[in-house]
Amino acid sequence: MQSGLRVIEDAFRNNRELASSLVRIIEKYAGKIDKEQLGYSAPIKIMHFCGTHEWTITHYGLRSLLPQNVELVAGPGCPVCVVPSNYIDLSIKLSLEGCVVYTYGDALRLPSTKPKSQARSLLDAKALGGEVKVVYSFLDAVRDAKTHSRDSVFLGIGFETVLPMYGFLFHKKEVPTNLKFLSLVRLTPPAMKYTIKLYRERGLLPIMGVIAPGHVSTVIGGEEWRFLPMNFNLPTVVAGFEPIDVLMAIASILKMINDKKPDLEIEYKRLVKTDGNPQVRRVIEEVFQPVYAAWRGIGMIARSGLKLRPEFGQAYDAFEYFGIKDVSPSEYVMTHAHFGDAGSYDIPPNCRCGEVVLGISKPTDCPLFMKSCTPESPWGPCMVSSEGTCNVWAKYGQMEKIKMETR
Ligand code: SF4
Repeated sequence: MQSGLRVIEDAFRNNRELASSLVRIIEKYAGKIDKEQLGYSAPIKIMHFCGTHEWTITHYGLRSLLPQNVELVAGPGCPVCVVPSNYIDLSIKLSLEGCVVYTYGDALRLPSTKPKSQARSLLDAKALGGEVKVVYSFLDAVRDAKTHSRDSVFLGIGFETVLPMYGFLFHKKEVPTNLKFLSLVRLTPPAMKYTIKLYRERGLLPIMGVIAPGHVSTVIGGEEWRFLPMNFNLPTVVAGFEPIDVLMAIASILKMINDKKPDLEIEYKRLVKTDGNPQVRRVIEEVFQPVYAAWRGIGMIARSGLKLRPEFGQAYDAFEYFGIKDVSPSEYVMTHAHFGDAGSYDIPPNCRCGEVVLGISKPTDCPLFMKSCTPESPWGPCMVSSEGTCNVWAKYGQMEKIKMETR
């Protein structure tokens, strides 16, 4: 008997016949949508929020299967890329002062805005003797912190997908008090709303449809994306991460554009419910509260971050314990105001991550791409994580090119 995983792989990954049918449907609808309907002659832009979707699209060369008038652009869906640089500098300082800093592996080389001659990542700090430990999960950090009594801090990076573990460990009082939590959690719907509004306010080529993140929606529920068709008339599909999932989402979005009936569809029905996971949502709400939060390269977004509620914060909030001043909205904007445009906040000189995370530029538009910025030696934040668009393009972009050339 085939395992469940193998069945999914055969249906959603290795299914050439279904992929070909979907490409024909995509071509049919893309051919019907003319410039009169759109109001302009440029490509139909579809934004996906998530770095994992960018991985699927680039790794499997899906762009090479699409008609020329359909363009897929990556949105701000890389939680590591959007961590403000002052928190990296701060973590470096804590580690060099002897505090144990627990971090996910993909944040280890996340660069601040410092020059290469100075410690600009936790990896640099570790090389200088800093106390940096890589963990796979918050649970690993909790277990390790129980083996000692030293001051320690966990960098709580992530979108809604990481919240169940964070929430339950606090809720079940499993976290030792020597381990503090630096909440760098960011919420995805407010960032999507911000991005769409920015495109419209600045007259950028409009986004015509959205592929919403499937894994996030298993927690928050598909209905959380209803605001996109309702308030912005944008066809939206909550999609999974296999190539067939993405092709199905594109076909549905194009059909909705063609029919002039923007709506919300859940393609990832095998895991996503309209209301997500109510038990997990309740625990998260009991442990965390929403706050104004800074997104690197983007700016401040209302109610887009989470901090520990006071009953947990008294014992665990790293901001309070270490006397860390959180970024305030006016300060963040003022500090980085000299950059001027949106999409330029808080990034190293000449790096275009601000535009890349907003889908305004492609990694290949950056003059440093694969020159002075590579996965082995990242200059900007989008080149570090496997969910960063520059990293994905650096590793798999060649596949896309090969598939384009052999069509
Ligand atoms: Fe920034 Fe490097 Fe990407 Fe350029 S290639 S935008 S420097 S991360």
